[in-house]
Amino acid sequence: MTETRLRFPPSPTGYLHIGGARTALYNWLYAKKNGGKLILRIEDTDTERSTKESIQGIVDGLEWLGIDFDEGPYFQTDFSSDHKAAAEKLLKEGKAYKCFCTKETLDAKREAALAAKQALGYDRTCTNLSTEEVAQKEAEGIPYVIRFKVPDGDRMIGYDDKILGRIQCNIKEIDDFVIVRSNGLPLYLLCNVVDDIRDRISHIIRGQDHMTNTIRQILLYEALGAPVPVFAHMPLTLDTKKAKISKRSHGEIVAVQFYRDHGFLPWAFNNFLVLLGWSEGNDREIYSKEELIEAFTLERINKSSSIFNFKKDDPKFFTDPKAISINEHYLRSMDIRELGTLVKSELQAEGLWDDAYEGDKADWYHNTLDMIRDRFHTLKDFTSLGRAYFGDDFSVEEKPLKKNILKHEGLKEWFPILADRYEQLSDFSLEEAERVARELATELDIKPGIIINGMRTVVTGQLAGPSMFDILMAIGKEKVVQRLRNIEKLYPAE
Ligand code: GLU
Repeated sequence: MTETRLRFPPSPTGYLHIGGARTALYNWLYAKKNGGKLILRIEDTDTERSTKESIQGIVDGLEWLGIDFDEGPYFQTDFSSDHKAAAEKLLKEGKAYKCFCTKETLDAKREAALAAKQALGYDRTCTNLSTEEVAQKEAEGIPYVIRFKVPDGDRMIGYDDKILGRIQCNIKEIDDFVIVRSNGLPLYLLCNVVDDIRDRISHIIRGQDHMTNTIRQILLYEALGAPVPVFAHMPLTLDTKKAKISKRSHGEIVAVQFYRDHGFLPWAFNNFLVLLGWSEGNDREIYSKEELIEAFTLERINKSSSIFNFKKDDPKFFTDPKAISINEHYLRSMDIRELGTLVKSELQAEGLWDDAYEGDKADWYHNTLDMIRDRFHTLKDFTSLGRAYFGDDFSVEEKPLKKNILKHEGLKEWFPILADRYEQLSDFSLEEAERVARELATELDIKPGIIINGMRTVVTGQLAGPSMFDILMAIGKEKVVQRLRNIEKLYPAE
């Protein structure tokens, strides 16, 4: 039985975008499910557009996602002698030929054919050249390309696409295509096949944008005497206006790094990516790694394009709402210790980490994360919305400032009183803290909500959050007292 071998062969001309990441993920899932191997091959033959930064970005992005490889990265440019050798072999076996036709001649012929409503394909002028004529032209230094000689005949050629079904055309409709340019460089179409043959690739899962190459590539496999792999062409990922997504038109928001840098959890992001074009046939959305490997099949990949519904202009959803809701699901339900490790990096990056969170304050740390995560969307929220739990340099949001502080001038006097009473409490417990706050409200004949909402604002800077007295316990007496006393700073100077 042949081995199951897949590859992810990105061209390093940009960052890893969500379309590429999804292709990598589908290949990875298929390999994992079928006990196969996955190979990373960097297709860097376009040396003008390939960059080191892009290679690094792709490798980093895949590593962040946890998409690991069994072999590679291989670099296509390291195998240029294989590509040339394949072209030579085809020439030698009469399966390809040198074509000396100039661009001008080809253009003129094309126009004439258009006018006469005839077929536009290359008319095979150069197949009639004798060996001597070819040698003569070469000796004269006339530039040439190498064309693949499509076998003659009137038969259907094609493949059974695992997603789209039978794809075929009549071989006589295929033009003798170029496989080596006049500068001697083999075309990508050929390099890709030669590499897949060498890497013994059995399954090619790639975007539908590559389908224009597939039948010609099958002819190359056959001509090179290699088994043709199984093909599965995935639907493209489009934006809400049905346009192809790209950095040029959409910016960083389509790059995998954007999600890493915005505090997404790697597995949550994979879980989002897989649903961009695949479903089990029901409305299930959440899959653990093991569950997804088990459930994934090529046959259940959608035939039509999927929509990446990012909402650039919506302040609530800065990206696809589904990406956010899946992230929230994992953030709010994952093992608290695992979350603790991820939040540690966020806190460290902001200078808010305390080693005691792994020592005597470990319980406090995990309980606090557990308490605040219910309203959070990404890891970044722990150092923004949740900043007040870890440091004093948090800001007070405008909405609660206006609503809960500035509207109630009296708080300026009341909070220092409350601070004194809290300070004097020997037992700063949840019940006591609540009793004292409510008692003050009664004395002042004001609604307890004024005290409670105001306190939430000065203590956390936020409009909403966990229960107020739970918050007080998490922040601790000393800081609560200090923040209540500092209330004056929130009012404009008189
Ligand atoms: N290098 C191609 C790309 O980045 C992939 C070609 C393939 O999968 O065959 O789009």
